[in-house]
Formats: sequence, C-alpha cells, structure tokens
Amino acid sequence: MRRTWTTATVALSCAILCIAYPQPIDILQQQQQHTFTPAHHGHHNIHNNDNNINNNNEETIHTYARFDGEQVLRLDVSNLAQLKLLQATVEKENLDLWSNLRIGTVDLRVPASKMSSHSIKAITDTIPSTVMIPDLQDLIPTQSPALTLQQSSTPNQNWNFTDDSFWLQYHDFATLNNFTETMVQQYPDLVKRVSIGKTFEGREIFGMSIHGFKQKKDKKKKKKKTKGWFFDDDEDYERDDDEEQNSVDMDGSKMMAATSLEDGDTVSSWWSWLFNAAPRQSIRKPSRPKKHPKAIVIHAGQHAREWIGPAVVSYIAKELILGYRQNKKITRLLDQFEFIIVPILNADGYVYTWEHNRMWRKNRQPTSIPFCPGIDPNRNWGYLFGGDGSSANPCNEGYHGPEAFAAFESKMMSDFILDRKNVVAYIDFHSYSQLWMHPFGGDCSMIPKDDEDLLEAGMGAAKALHDVHGKKYTVGSICNVIYQASGGSIDWTYAVGQVKYSYGVELRDTGRYGFLLPEDEILPSSEETMAGVIYLANFIRLREKQWGFKY
Ligand SMILES: [Zn+2]
Repeated sequence: MRRTWTTATVALSCAILCIAYPQPIDILQQQQQHTFTPAHHGHHNIHNNDNNINNNNEETIHTYARFDGEQVLRLDVSNLAQLKLLQATVEKENLDLWSNLRIGTVDLRVPASKMSSHSIKAITDTIPSTVMIPDLQDLIPTQSPALTLQQSSTPNQNWNFTDDSFWLQYHDFATLNNFTETMVQQYPDLVKRVSIGKTFEGREIFGMSIHGFKQKKDKKKKKKKTKGWFFDDDEDYERDDDEEQNSVDMDGSKMMAATSLEDGDTVSSWWSWLFNAAPRQSIRKPSRPKKHPKAIVIHAGQHAREWIGPAVVSYIAKELILGYRQNKKITRLLDQFEFIIVPILNADGYVYTWEHNRMWRKNRQPTSIPFCPGIDPNRNWGYLFGGDGSSANPCNEGYHGPEAFAAFESKMMSDFILDRKNVVAYIDFHSYSQLWMHPFGGDCSMIPKDDEDLLEAGMGAAKALHDVHGKKYTVGSICNVIYQASGGSIDWTYAVGQVKYSYGVELRDTGRYGFLLPEDEILPSSEETMAGVIYLANFIRLREKQWGFKY
C-alpha cells in the first residue's frame, strides 16, 4: 500500500534533513566534461577539474557533510510487530536504515539530535539494540575525498590497471571512467565501450561489453602446431562489430588518447610503455558471428554510498579481460557470453558522495520538495512499483519517485535490457549484509517459476564465493531473506525483461563498517565475488543447453 505524504511530515522532515544533510550549493550542476585521457595523464586531468572547482568554489568544496555524534544502532527485530513499528518510525521520521528491513538484525543510523527523542526511545525500549558504530564521523574523512586526492596525489609513474594495486583503494567517477577507457583501448577486439545513457546531471553511464573472438585462421594454425585447449570447440562466436550499436568508434578513441600525449610520443609507444608486461591481443578484425551471444549484465552503484560495488565490478571486468586466453574457464565463458559490465549506474549520486556527502544514497534528481532531492533508483523500477518497502515521501531514503522509471538510471538500464533482447543473467550489486538474492521482493505471495534454478545457482555462487575467503552469504528470494521491497531492479528484469537469472547481491560486510568498508577489504571482496560470478555463468552455460551452444 502506498504511503501518504502529510504537511506535518514535511515540517518534521525539514527539521531532520536540515541537520542530517547540509545542503551546499550544488557545484555539480555545472556540467563537467569527463573526457578520457590515459591513466597517468588522466590524473592530471582529474586534478585540473578539481583545481577549477577549488578555485571557483573554495568554500563549497570544503563543505563535506559531517556526522559527529551520529550512531548506527543494531536492532534485533524478532517479530512482525517490532518490524512494523520500526518501519513506521523510519517512514515518519525519515530515518536512514543502513540495512534492509527484516525480521533479524537491522542497522539504523540515528542523528545525535534524535538520540534521546521519543520515537527513538520507543524503538529501543521495544526492540533489543546494541551500538554498532558509536560515532560515525570517526569513520568518515573530514573533507571531500576528491579534495584529498587533489592535495595528496602526485602522478604515479607505476600506475597500471593490469595488476591488483588498483583495487587497494576506492576510485572516483573519473578514474573508473579512465579504467574503462584504458581497457577498451588496450583490448579493442575483446572490449567495447557501451553507453547506457546519461544521468540527470549529464554524466555518461558507461560500461564495457566483453566478448571473446575465436578466429578460424588461428585455429587451423594452432591445431597443426599444438593441441591448444581453447581451439577445441567447433563453433566460433566472434564479435559482430556491425551490430555493436553502443560501441565507440575506435579511431575516435585513439584520437582522444593521442591528444593527451606529450610531443614526440605516439599512441603505440605510450601503450607499450604502460602495458609492456601485459598480454597482447590480436588486432585483426574478427569476422561476423554465427550466433548472437547471450548477454550477462552486471552493474553496481544504484545506491551512491555503496562504494564497494563499483570497485568489485571493475575488478570482475579486469579479471575477465586479462583471463581471456589465459584461463580456460574464463575463455570458454567469454567465447559464449557477452559480459556487459557497468561499474556505476547512479553516477550523479556517486560523485556527490565523493564531493559533498559520504552517506548519500539516492540519485540527484529534483523532487516535489525542493530541499529533498533524489529518487531511490532501486525503488523506481516498473514492476510491482509503489508497494510496501518503498516510500512516497521525497524526503525518505527509499523514495520511489513520482512514477515508475522517473529515475534516469532505472529507465536507461531497463531500456538497455529490452533493446538487447538477449540478456540471460543480471546481477545488481549493492552493499552491505552479504546476501545473494533473487525475485521477488515486491509481492511476497509471488514465487518465480524458476525458483528452483535461481536458488540452486545462487547457492552454488555463494559456496564458490565462500571457498575463497570464508565469507558466508545468505541465499534466497528478497522476500525470504529480507522483507518486502517494491520497485526493485530484479523483479522487473525477471518478470518484464525476461532475464531468468536475475540477482541482487549485497556485498561485504555484515555491519562492522557498513558502507564505510575499509579499503583493505576491496581486493578480497573482489576475488571472492569473481568466484561467485564465474560459478553462476558456468552454471547457466551448462544448464541452458537448449540455446544451441555446443559443449
Ligand atoms: Zn543498495
């Protein structure tokens, strides 16, 4: 049932929001250009942008939201009455739930000013609670990480996307864009840039299409010399350049790269220097495929503050790309599936967390309440929209928007999936709680007809993930694992987008740091999640033989 929005709530929300969310002048309204330059030059580029911002808006950039005295409470919800009390209070007071509402443990952020309020007291008197994070500000940088980057970084001559050092820290929007473009430039036969669309503030929702290219001449040549394992299959599924509607023109990209080089440099010499140890891919243009490949769509970043998602997803892309023709399982998967990997769906929100407010969740679209911008993209998808587990209140963190697909991000991604028509798996990465979930979330009386396969594949993925670093993930439908949540992505991708293997995954941790997961957990999180994704893709490959693949 839809929530209603009252005048009294507006007044209360203002009081809360003005404290919880300092609203600096939004410098992001000034459109920034995110033109690719190769990595070490790209750093200059990023800093130049920051310098411009700093010079023009010195006061603004320093206004990075603080959270002194705010606590994150862990509530042990044991029955439906407690859950309903919590849900009603969160809705009424516009509180920030850190983890999903469910019978079990639920984490709630409480501003210092609300700590002794009647409503919080009513919750803690009724529901057993402990303090998870005693002072949130202790875990948050005191100023914008974007500014810190500008002040402390010098161009790193060893900057290299081909080793794992890139995943020892979180990266901003521009750097992840540079990462993507570098992969496209370095592996042009294997990786194509895709553009899902543009956000409200005009940023490109960028991604990579990664698909293998078997070549008959190579195959014959190699077979005479060796019995290479990756040339054993009969079918070739080579990339169809002509049908890559969203790929950038490669000549254009090379020109962009060339503009940032020093005098006397050439594109090829620069790349040779940067990637002299990297495996080289053939530059011969692949021929037309015999079958259009099935696609696996993976993205993160619907929710801005969940920084581990874009980090893990970019790692998965790197592992696939560098594993091609190096790792048997990855090669076979890439020869049969097209992986479409989009690190940051809610680009505006992500940038906002880097420059203004580390705790921002929603996108940055205006709403009917001027001081409460932002739609929750993952409550805005067009299947079972507007039900329980989402809010009609623009000041609420789970605001579902005025109508389905009003959010740019959900609209663009759903259009992309419908256009592709060939998507067999979709994974939407979030954090935190360590959950591997499938539909449905919007109506808990509904069970997907593929429930058994979804559960089996999810369990296998979670086990593969667990085997890497011992982290336990809970597997099941959204309704079973957490509680009703309407307008989420995977309900739509499954029911409308016809994507059988639709999953929503909540990454590390289980609440010790929540969204502020330390950087030394990026790499282990990435490694284990990669194992889960590979398991899932392989499960689909083996299970779905009716697609006509030869195995
Ligand atoms: Zn999320």
